[in-house]
Parts: sequence; C-alpha cells; structure tokens
Amino acid sequence: MRYRSTAGKAPLTSLRGAVLRGLAPDGGLYMPAEIARHSPEELEEFRSLPFTEVCFRVVRPFATPDVPEEVLWQIVSETINFPVKLVSLSPGLHILELFHGPTLAFKDFGARFMARLMGYFVRGENRQLTVLVATSGDTGSAVAHGFLSVPGIRVVKQFTTLGENITALEVSGTFDDCQRLVKQAFCDEELNKRAFLTSANSINIGRLLPQMFYHVAAYRQLPVASTALVVAVPSGNFGNLTAGLFAKRIGLPVAKFIAATNANDVVPKYLISGHYQPRAAQATCSNAMDVGNPNNFPRLLDLCRGRLEYVQREIWGHGASDEETLAEMKSVWEKYRYICDPHTAVGILGWEAYKKEHSEPAQGLVLATAHPAKFADVVMKAIGTAPPLPDRLAAYLKRPKLSVGMSRDYEDFKQFLLAH
Ligand SMILES: *Cc1c(COP(=O)(O)O)cnc(C)c1O
Repeated sequence: MRYRSTAGKAPLTSLRGAVLRGLAPDGGLYMPAEIARHSPEELEEFRSLPFTEVCFRVVRPFATPDVPEEVLWQIVSETINFPVKLVSLSPGLHILELFHGPTLAFKDFGARFMARLMGYFVRGENRQLTVLVATSGDTGSAVAHGFLSVPGIRVVKQFTTLGENITALEVSGTFDDCQRLVKQAFCDEELNKRAFLTSANSINIGRLLPQMFYHVAAYRQLPVASTALVVAVPSGNFGNLTAGLFAKRIGLPVAKFIAATNANDVVPKYLISGHYQPRAAQATCSNAMDVGNPNNFPRLLDLCRGRLEYVQREIWGHGASDEETLAEMKSVWEKYRYICDPHTAVGILGWEAYKKEHSEPAQGLVLATAHPAKFADVVMKAIGTAPPLPDRLAAYLKRPKLSVGMSRDYEDFKQFLLAH
C-alpha cells in the first residue's frame, strides 16, 4: 500500500514513511492511496475465524509490502491481548466496551499497534527514535504504555509513572505550552538533524489502522439482523470516526455514523451549516474530547470527496452539554444498572437524539471509549456511587510518579532532547 497526503502536494510514500513522519511534508495527513473492499464471502468468514486472524486480514493490505507477514502477525497479536466486550442494554442498543486494555481506554488499540510498528521500522537504524507527545490526558498514558520496553524507542511526555524508555517532563506551564514546545521541536531543523524525532498523536496513520479492529469485533458479535446499524462515536479529534469510515470502506455494513461530541461541537455544527468553524476548546466533564479544531477533520472530508452532502450521507452529528451528560449517566444507571463514563454517555445521547429524528428502524452501537473508573469523580457526581476500580488501574495509580521538571522555555527543552 502506498500513502498519499490529503493536501495532495507530497510524494506517495510507504507505510514506513507515513508512520515515521506522522505529518506529510505538505502539511497534509497521510491516507491509504486506495482501500479495497472485502467480498461478502470474506466478511461472512470474519464472523467465524479467530479474532486475531480477522484483524490480521483486515490490516494486511495496508501493511504490505512494508511489513513481512510474520512480523505483522506478531504486532497484531500483541496489540489485541485484551477483550472487546459487547453489552446489549436493550435489543436495539449495544455498547462496545473498548476499555479493557492496559490504560483502560480505547487509545490502547492505536498506541500499542503504532508503537510496535515503529519499533519494527526503526530496527536496524543506528539512531534511537524519540517520540514526543504533548498531552494532558488519555493519549499520553496510552501512548507511553504502548511503547513501554519497545526497543530502539524512547518517549518523552508530560506525566508518567512508567520509567524505562519513557521520560516524563513536567512542564511548568499549560497544556498549550507543552504543545508549543513539541511543535517547535519538529520545526527546528538543527534539532532534527541531530535527533531522530517523531510524534505519536492521532494524526499518525499507524494509530488509525488498528482502530478498524473493533468495528470488526462489533460486526462479529452483533446478532445477524437486517436492521440497519448506526454507530455512535464519542469524538474529539475524530480519529475514532475516521477509522470507522475506513472499516466501512473495506465492506462493513454501517448505515450511519454519529459524530457524538460534548459542547465542543464544531463538526455537528458543520454537518448542519456546511461551515467549518474551529474555535478554542471548552473544558467539559468528558475532557478527552475537549477539542476545538479536530485534527482528523481533513481525513473525514477526504473520505467523502470534500463534499458536504457526502459527509452528511455518512455522518450525523450531535453535541451534548455537561448537564445532559450527567443526567444520561444517571438514567442509564437507573434504567439498566450500567455504569458508563462521561464520554460513553455522550455517545448514548448521540444515538438517542438520532433515534428521535429518524423513524426508520435501526439498531444503535455506542463505542464505550473509557472505563468509568478513570472518571470516578464524574461518575460519583452523576450517580452518587463510585465505580469499582479494576485491579490494573489501582496498581497503575499506586506507582510512584517519575518525572523531570522542565521550564516552558524552548531552549531548555531542546537542550534536554540533545543531551539525552
Ligand atoms: C481520545 C478519546 C476520545 C475521542 O477520540 P477521537 O479519536 O479523538 O475522536 C473519546 N473518548 C475517550 C475516553 C478518549 O480518550
């Protein structure tokens, strides 16, 4: 598979080139040059083959010829060493739990896969790859965990309790300061000559490809029904929804995706008005989705040939307030005795709003993106009970915090990168 840029002015590149670069040289995002559909017979087989085998078949066309089959098999099987669970709250409402990985969020899929892919691509390089991640939340922990102990790679991020090849810098400044430091590092020619840098946020195609896996997992586990499937995706940077469209392009039957956001509803607004108006992010209780200018938006447009009416044909949007989100967590708990995190509640609200406006029969699948225990304070506020804390998270929270203090001055950051 060759990869092209959404901006159309960069040369085609290999998966290796796209993953190690992150962003295309023309400022666009890398996209697979063509996406092949699986035949209905193959899709039917996806229901009965072992899950690892199915994921391998799904990602193989995107990784050939860069990654030998036995390496790809290894990467896929190490990525999905945790279950994807489908919980049916009612015959027409299913929750797909994507949070059974090491950091209890769906980002484990992308992070684990990308880390191993990068590890493979830098093998044989005599330079060590440094992955920079500016983060204030979920992405950082998932990415850092994904890279833990992968040889040839070190990760520099803001907070961590991991150690080994992960270095945490605690910047005395805001999240914006962190992002500025990282951006400046990528634009610094001298630094890039002397250090081998890459980024691990969701603009990296290596994080999106494995996110097709759980869309396939849903397809395997859902009862065979002729009822149209509507998939509600709690969205921030829209990597998750982009991967859903990839999954649809390879043949999975999805009637519609719901772009479910919190008050940061730039995309739902665009779907109504046709105007894309990014704005500063607003803080909400589903904070992993507090994004005012979703970085995968160019990919969504690209997949829909840049036409509003095509985007509207595939995606319906809904933005929920914090008040609605908390009330929804409570009502889901009271109605089904199911505890969901605030991001998942935003997804359920999206599905319910869709159903109100569309009378044709459909079944809803909501992607549950984080374990409720990660947002225990919000859950407590919504339902008055704390969610049970899984052992993995308890152990993770108990680890000592290992971090290095860092000023917000770029020169200090650069000197640190060069010295280590
Ligand atoms: C990152 C994240 C999202 C949003 O995913 P995008 O791919 O950025 O749209 C939703 N929920 C949780 C818990 C997340 O960590």
